[in-house]
Amino acid sequence: MKEENIDLDKLTKAKFEIDKSAFRPKTLHCSNCKLKLTKTQMDIPIDETLYAVVLAFECPKCHKKYLGLEDAKRLDRAMVFKRAMSKDFKMTRNLSFDGDNYTFRIPKEFTHDVNKRKIEIIPLGAKEFCAVVE
Ligand SMILES: [Zn+2]
Repeated sequence: MKEENIDLDKLTKAKFEIDKSAFRPKTLHCSNCKLKLTKTQMDIPIDETLYAVVLAFECPKCHKKYLGLEDAKRLDRAMVFKRAMSKDFKMTRNLSFDGDNYTFRIPKEFTHDVNKRKIEIIPLGAKEFCAVVE
């Protein structure tokens, strides 16, 4: 391989256009066989009794399965809920009561990219809820 010296001062700006479909290709191909993948469905166990049904893509030759981006996100979220329900990681915060509402402080490490400064509260039970910071 021939080595070339690149003069960084002589480099000019280049403009690229990335097609909008580049990150959402209409057809997907197997990384092993290069064959076009077909749509399929996968039942992925979340725990002993719970399964997530997700749309996937399968190679007709080697049967390797791929998840679409949206379904990968959904599966990731299901795994997060599973972890939350198992309570293997938790922290304790003090609750304050003003007569009508309880308040507690959320560590800033849990609030990455907070835009709207709003929180969605999803009740899970009488004393349990899930909070999503927006
Ligand atoms: Zn394949």
